[in-house]
Amino acid sequence: MTASDRARPLGPGATIGVLGGGQLGRMMAVAARQMGYRIIVLDPSARCPTAQVSDGVVVGALDDAQAARHLASQVDVITLDTEHVPADVLAELEPIAPVRPNASVLRTIQDRLVQKQFLDRIGLPQANWAPADDVHAALAKVGRPAILKVRRAGYDGKGQVRIDPETDLGSVWQSMGGELAILEAFVDFQREISVVIARGFDGAMAMYVPVENQHRNHILDTTIAPARITPAIAVKAEAIARHIAQEIKLIGLLAVEMFVTRDGDVLVNELAPRPHNSGHLTIDACMTSQFEQQLRAICGLPPGSVDQFRPAAMVNLLGDLWAAGEPDWMAACLLPHVRLHLYGKSDARPGRKMGHITALAPNADEALTMAVRARSALTR
Ligand code: AMP
Repeated sequence: MTASDRARPLGPGATIGVLGGGQLGRMMAVAARQMGYRIIVLDPSARCPTAQVSDGVVVGALDDAQAARHLASQVDVITLDTEHVPADVLAELEPIAPVRPNASVLRTIQDRLVQKQFLDRIGLPQANWAPADDVHAALAKVGRPAILKVRRAGYDGKGQVRIDPETDLGSVWQSMGGELAILEAFVDFQREISVVIARGFDGAMAMYVPVENQHRNHILDTTIAPARITPAIAVKAEAIARHIAQEIKLIGLLAVEMFVTRDGDVLVNELAPRPHNSGHLTIDACMTSQFEQQLRAICGLPPGSVDQFRPAAMVNLLGDLWAAGEPDWMAACLLPHVRLHLYGKSDARPGRKMGHITALAPNADEALTMAVRARSALTR
């Protein structure tokens, strides 16, 4: 493929390759199919959530370069369902088909240490942090309480340990199994927010309003949009997202998770180079969903409008809800202005994201009440 071919927009009818077949790929595939694109996915399972709604599947592990090359040879552009694809594999695919976001973006984001160094270099505020090769030295710099986080492959709080004043360092270190880690000061935040931003290959950007997130056991539990923050904090958050998208030379979608401190400062927590759980409510609440936006950005279409029709809330449905059998879907669907999304996963393990519910209402608090009520109705 020549450079001028790569700068050409890919219209409907083009084939998109997705690395990883989870729910993010699935929801992007649904958006892609609505617009007449074809989808082929690489995943270890032929029945993964994305494959169920795709035109084709290449069965293989995400670090299987040969399988990834096989996918690349059949598609016009490649994108990601997860950032846990080795950047070296992406670099191998780039001569075959454009990879958006590319290996360089992944190299910056995949390793928490490199990500934090990048954010420092471009002058963005973060919690005080230090590499934890020597955890005693790192603690002396960062202080307690702190959080030790593995550098790679950590998500939804996996590979994270909190270090309180009384925590015994030896046992913490052992529980990390010798993995490389960073240490980060614990932030006594007022709220957690996130921004999803898209950037196309002509540099055009589109950004959703900041949303507000609540986690339970380190896993996202609820999101409301818009976030309950002042306009000044929203402006800070948006400027941060724009700055990162530009500096990292993003093509595709990026989620920026941030802490709002009690003093009204905005600190970057972490980056994800893909659609984000906190953007799921854009499917029901916005003119263009984050999944269509990802598609537009990687295919060179103009970004779609991010207008939000009504305030909205999203609650995640984890596998725990299946503990006493199949949830009562009818009860949730009885509620007005509530929509159910399930990801086609057959094995409902505790903590596993199985689906979500979105509710729309005159204000975000009411939307959250409605979404939580719908979720409670599932197991009553
Ligand atoms: P992460 O995977 O780093 O986004 O962490 C998952 C969640 O853990 C975050 O969304 C926060 O709720 C919490 N968390 C992570 N790092 C910190 C921190 N430095 N201070 C306070 N809470 C944190």
